[in-house]
Amino acid sequence: LSGFTRLLDKRYSKGLAFTHEERQQLGIHGMLPYVVREPSEQVEHCRALLARLDQDLDKYMYLISLSERNERLFYNVLSSDIAYMMPLVYTPTVGLACQRYSLIHQNAKGMFISIKDKGHIYDVLKNWPETDVRAIVVTDGERILGLGDLGANGMGIPVGKLSLYTALAGIKPSQCLPITLDVGTNTESILEDPLYIGLRERRATGDLYDEFIDEFMHACVRRFGQNCLIQFEDFANANAFRLLSKYRDSFCTFNDDIQGTASVAVAGLLASLKIKKTQLKDNTLLFLGAGEAALGIANLCLMAMKVEGLTEEEAKARIWLVDSRGVITRDRPKGGLTEHKLHFAQLHEPIDTLAEAVRKVRPNVLIGAAAQGGAFNQEILELMADINETPIIFALSNPTSKAECTAEEAYTYTKGRCIFASGSPFAPVTYNNKKFYPGQGNNSYIFPGVALGVLCAGMLNIPEQVFLVAAERLAELVSKDDLAKGSLYPPLSSIVSCSMAIAERIVEYAYKNGLATVRPEPVNKLAFIKAQMYDLDYPRSVPATYKM
Ligand code: NAP
Ligand code: MN
Repeated sequence: LSGFTRLLDKRYSKGLAFTHEERQQLGIHGMLPYVVREPSEQVEHCRALLARLDQDLDKYMYLISLSERNERLFYNVLSSDIAYMMPLVYTPTVGLACQRYSLIHQNAKGMFISIKDKGHIYDVLKNWPETDVRAIVVTDGERILGLGDLGANGMGIPVGKLSLYTALAGIKPSQCLPITLDVGTNTESILEDPLYIGLRERRATGDLYDEFIDEFMHACVRRFGQNCLIQFEDFANANAFRLLSKYRDSFCTFNDDIQGTASVAVAGLLASLKIKKTQLKDNTLLFLGAGEAALGIANLCLMAMKVEGLTEEEAKARIWLVDSRGVITRDRPKGGLTEHKLHFAQLHEPIDTLAEAVRKVRPNVLIGAAAQGGAFNQEILELMADINETPIIFALSNPTSKAECTAEEAYTYTKGRCIFASGSPFAPVTYNNKKFYPGQGNNSYIFPGVALGVLCAGMLNIPEQVFLVAAERLAELVSKDDLAKGSLYPPLSSIVSCSMAIAERIVEYAYKNGLATVRPEPVNKLAFIKAQMYDLDYPRSVPATYKM
């Protein structure tokens, strides 16, 4: 590699942190101004530049271009204030970025594989310059956040998620590959956008789609090995469930919208039970919504209750779901029961509304994941407070406008008695002179740590149990202080140590259950994990020498 290439290559560049000695030895002296900066000064400089920008989308674009110029500096900037930076590289800003992706797209970041590449996906993957890819995040762009079908503009999601793999769990950027499977889009305004970067066709469906996905899965394994992790992200409901059950036993794969969400929500539930001093099996849960998020959570709760000693039937009797047609009951006249919903269908006369469901089911825990903003209205919240001394209310829908209720509404209408968590962040609320700090059930507490654990142990598939193990570990990390403040999650600023603790527990689980393929088994698991993590310090540009 020539010195000039090192200066321009995001993986090797240090910008103004190249020392004079390095500049001379690499033959790049004179290409940089005189000053030599400390890495910490570089971070301050970037933050000062960020602070000048008013628009979040501009901050996003600045950060992305930084990651293309000097990757290590980018991750140092993220790490300098995770709680501030995360919303800029991930939700909510990444939503704005995806909506404008065709406009702001500048660099080759990740791979676009279109349905026109069918039959050649392996060859396309071979074009990726890195050979040791260990983690892929893939989307087909059909259900980007709560924004719907954005086609190839969905690329912001895999790019953003993988930057969190590195920032939150130290997975090396060179081992991460964001992929968008471009099978078209059904969104009219995108098809008509002259700037659109994707395939200007309606979505491929049916056998064509299935064969394409299947070829992709096998091509990934052929190119990168069977322990390459493939995270599915923001696929539409029907495909998400179908592809998960099709591939979960034979590939190293998971779906974050279903399983990551489930894990972070169950972690919040387990933490809230510490306050209530009960077990999950002592509770009745009512969900508004029966989609990827709600069914994922319901399934993991079912598993947790069985671990606590209930039979499948006893556990199911405690889990109720409401979809767009009312409570999911076995023979409801309105029908519409998919296999996954049928699993939780209750033998009960039809119940049409949420309020009626709360009255009849008398839940201790109410979880919203239906993207119906304001659905937990005053009546519902007061009912929950009538039924329970300490009602548990989770308003998980994103973005903020879709939240079932605000933190303030939850505390006000339950007279400050509820335990509350949300999907979108809410500012602290003061009620009756007490200040509450609502926790955010952000999937980022879970997926980076799970991925790190899976990769370090070399797991070849990811059993559902892994997400319960992760949830339990995260709940353990919630301190008495956090709980006293009303927060069911550790502070976002501690998220890297959460990832490592989760990864450690998963590596232990993998070895204990014969799922690890990395030999020999490391004695000190945490040290083993740490040794594989991305180093935020610049490496030497020129090799060290020794006296002969
Ligand atoms: P999804 O698969 O499309 O499911 C949406 C569900 O809501 C469906 O079951 C739908 O009913 C139901 N629904 C729609 N309108 C309803 C109504 N008026 N009354 C009752 N139910 C209604 O979507 P998803 O992936 O589960 O996401 C749902 C929400 O959860 C989104 O806002 C998402 O941002 C949020 N989420 C949050 C987190 C987090 O906080 N960590 C993680 C993931 C998702 P039908 O089945 O009858 O159509
Ligand atoms: Mn998602």
